[in-house]
Amino acid sequence: MTTLASLFDAEVPRPVLDVITRLWDLGHAAYLVGGCVRDTLRGVHPKDFDVATSALPEQVQSAFRKVIPTGIQHGTVTVLADGNHVEVTTFRSESDYHDGRRPSAVTFEKDIVRDLSRRDFTINAMAWNPLNHELVDPFRGQEDLKARLIRCVGSANDRFSEDGLRPMRAVRFAAVLDFTLDPATQAAIPATLSVFRKVAHERVREEFVKLLLSKREAFGLELLAVTGLLDVFLPELARADAEAARLARAAAAAAPADVEIRLAALLADLVDPQRAEEIGVRLKFPTKNIERVRLFVGHAALERHVEGSDPALRRLIAKVGPANVEPLTQVARARVQAREPGRLLELEALIGRLLALVAAKPPLTGKDLALNGGAIMSALGVGPSPIVGEATRFLVEQVLDEPSLNEAEKLKGLLRSWLQARGS
Ligand code: ATP
Ligand code: MG
Repeated sequence: MTTLASLFDAEVPRPVLDVITRLWDLGHAAYLVGGCVRDTLRGVHPKDFDVATSALPEQVQSAFRKVIPTGIQHGTVTVLADGNHVEVTTFRSESDYHDGRRPSAVTFEKDIVRDLSRRDFTINAMAWNPLNHELVDPFRGQEDLKARLIRCVGSANDRFSEDGLRPMRAVRFAAVLDFTLDPATQAAIPATLSVFRKVAHERVREEFVKLLLSKREAFGLELLAVTGLLDVFLPELARADAEAARLARAAAAAAPADVEIRLAALLADLVDPQRAEEIGVRLKFPTKNIERVRLFVGHAALERHVEGSDPALRRLIAKVGPANVEPLTQVARARVQAREPGRLLELEALIGRLLALVAAKPPLTGKDLALNGGAIMSALGVGPSPIVGEATRFLVEQVLDEPSLNEAEKLKGLLRSWLQARGS
């Protein structure tokens, strides 16, 4: 649904309406802007409601009792109203992008149209006054929303040269919204790649993750490839042969919308675990994500274990950690769905066995043994010494083979025969 009626019906939160009302009462202009106008027009409930105003940041600060100067140098102030956070940003224009990364100067403006002109895409450059129901749409955002088009505000070449992240955002919005790129907007991407190359990797990653988690993720990845963006930050995929890349995209698309699982499904058959880690580091993913993606990539080919015995599967569980088994099975399932659907049935049987083994909570490490370190020492009649570690590893191997052996008396018996066999 793309109608003005959806704006009239929009349920703008009370605190947001109060902030806008107060600003107009003080003689300033104030509008809802950006994503919330776009999403409401699409009939989708917005994630958050951003307010833009002609009031200067100091004026916003003095208009409300509780404010946090969140990004005051860029004109953003957070108003706290009844426990709600409302972001209020002064109309601004940006100039002199010296390096294609950040505007070197921000100029505050009095006119909403000036503020909308510096925004990236026509569908993101609309403002709505919920008090008098005025829609400010100088770049025909509504029309592009109906035509499902991502189009730059003004010259795409200029806009992409100012801020190298914008082409990445264009593709991200296309994937998230299931839109296409306006031809002039798409054509400007290859021409401005040298600016995209300078963008900080965290910013690229943020957009990449949103694309990866979108419904049209395979389409988004393809668009990244054809525009040349992918080669800049993920050459491992961009330079893979066409069939390998297609299978990787299909695997990622078949995975549940979780960043670690999708990334692992995408990379598992393209790179080794070491390279997967390098990619994570390059894109400045959090360490926790990198470690898990590396682990999933290393063990993704679960179909290799379909003939595995229970002891072999318990050893696999011990190696990856029981908490990682379920997500790992999701990576494996997505890959097999995309690559070898004929093997899904046997994979599902294996997954069933793995999850049952995890649910049984078998002893997997020294900590799980029915004998603690002290008990092992007294059973051996020794103090702390290397033999204790050796004995522990021996016992762990025994209980991985047969979990029912994990009882104090049985383990002591095993230790005695182990000592005898060693001849000491
Ligand atoms: P989402 O729902 O993904 O948050 P959004 O439209 O709110 O979408 P944000 O990244 O939160 O996207 O940005 C808010 C608004 O700020 C955008 O709608 C757009 O008007 C403007 N904007 C954000 N980034 C840029 C940019 N790099 N260049 C120009 N305008 C931008
Ligand atoms: Mg937003």
